[in-house]
This record gives sequence, C-alpha cells and structure tokens, in this order.
Amino acid sequence: MRILVVEDEEELRDVLAKQLKEHGYSVDSCADGQEAEDYLEASEYDIVILDILLPKRSGIQVLEWIRKRGISVQVLMLSALDSVGDKVAGLDAGADDYMTKPFAFEELLARIRLLTRKKAGNRTNVYQALDLVMDVTRRRVYRSGKEITLSNREFALLEYMIANPDAVLTRSQIEQHILDYSYEGSSNMVDVYIRYLRKKIDEDHEKKLIRTVRGHGYMLCTDG
Ligand code: CA
Repeated sequence: MRILVVEDEEELRDVLAKQLKEHGYSVDSCADGQEAEDYLEASEYDIVILDILLPKRSGIQVLEWIRKRGISVQVLMLSALDSVGDKVAGLDAGADDYMTKPFAFEELLARIRLLTRKKAGNRTNVYQALDLVMDVTRRRVYRSGKEITLSNREFALLEYMIANPDAVLTRSQIEQHILDYSYEGSSNMVDVYIRYLRKKIDEDHEKKLIRTVRGHGYMLCTDG
C-alpha cells in the first residue's frame, strides 16, 4: 500500500514517514498543498494523510481538488483543528476519516487498515483467497494452515493483490502501489517479486493464486 504524507511540520512528517515505512508501507511525503497535488497527479496512492493548515494550498483545497478530479484515493485528514465544525467541514468536503493532533500512532495504523479494508469491501483485517489467509494486523500469511514468511515487499505485493482480487493489475499499477520514489532498483522488479511470491505461496499447491494475464499484467484469483 502506498501512502502520501502531507505535513508541513518537518519533524512530524519525518517521524510519520519513517514509522509507516517500518510497518511495510511505501511512503512519499511533502510539505505543502501544491506539492501534494503534484504527487497525486504523478502517481497512484492508496491513502493520503493530509494536514489542513498547509502552505500554498490548504488541506481542504487539496481535498476538494482530489474529489473534483475524481482521483481514487482514501483521504485521512490529520489536523490540529479539533472543533466539531472543522471535522464536519473536512468530512463534508469528502474526507474518508478525520483525526486530530496529538494522536497515537497505533490508532493511525488502525485507521489506515480500516480505510484499506473498506475500499476492498472487507469487514476485518483478515483477507482470504482460496485456502490462503492473510492477517494484515498481525502481518501473518498462511496457506492450507501452514505459515509462510514473506519479506516486507512481498507482503506489500500480496496485500495489494488480495485487496484487488480477480482484477487484472498492470505492472505499472503494481509498481506504483508497492514502491515509492526513493526506490532505485531494476525496471522489471514487479516480475521479480511476482516470481518470489509465487515460489512461496503457489509452488507447492495445485491451485495457483497468481495468474499471468499475457500482455496486461497479473491477477490474484479467488476461484481457483
Ligand atoms: Ca500544518
């Protein structure tokens, strides 16, 4: 899952980006509303954590721009503005959630998981495809009851695919959702990580979860 952090307070921005990365998210960050729009235009994000009082363009202006453009991203407002009126204004402008500062990082993580599963139409943080079970809260994956150990990037890849089941995902889509701008690796990294993941989750099983859709990309199948 790829997250954009928009926060003008440098220390908070750095801590947020660092901690989210440690929890396996791909993270980009920026310090003002104009930059936020540039990032959102250039890449596909799953979630944007958006401050309200920002230089150049306010969080509310950015939010309105996102909704007007029809950009599909979950917006979590994170602001020191804690009056009922501010929250109502944020939610009415199209925010998916609103958190006030100061906040507990654990709660932010829980809300990120909530937004992710809502988008996927899942009611819990446990995803299932055939006999594969992925518990995102506990960061565990099982196939036929047997636990599988995944690297952070393999986990991110599987999480993105299982949250978009039975849909063809292009290499570019996959790349955008599991990498951030700091990634400097080979251009065929998606194929490489798909290969790693297949080896771990599909190799010893008759029914394959990951399918190659020739000329398009990959798909995680839930119907065997
Ligand atoms: Ca601010």
